Amino acid sequence: MVKKNDLILIGVILIIGIGALLFMYLNNEAGSKVSVQMNGEEIITFDLDEDITYTIEGDNGAWNTFTIKDGHVDMIDASCPDKICVNHKDIHYDHETITCLPNQVLLEIIGGEENPIDSIAN
Ligand SMILES: [Zn+2]
Repeated sequence: MVKKNDLILIGVILIIGIGALLFMYLNNEAGSKVSVQMNGEEIITFDLDEDITYTIEGDNGAWNTFTIKDGHVDMIDASCPDKICVNHKDIHYDHETITCLPNQVLLEIIGGEENPIDSIAN
């Protein structure tokens, strides 16, 4: 026999539970950043929830242009001869990186979503 008060209690617990999950989810997303490093030093960071196009300029005229869109970071153009960084797939998950060796540029995701492939491997 379920009483009316029990139903209200269950409802309240459900709402708190969903609220907590939502809060954790939003918090996680808000904390996701991309760290832009040059010559091993972080020069700037961006939140993954802002959509931007940014060009990193080096001392010797080297440059790398990347975009952030829908939480994904992608190198779209660069002055380097090999274009390995440009051809790299976009990055989104925690600790994923795009490296441009000739220009000594590194993009790294900080505090992003856990990579589902890593989770399976672990
Ligand atoms: Zn490159």
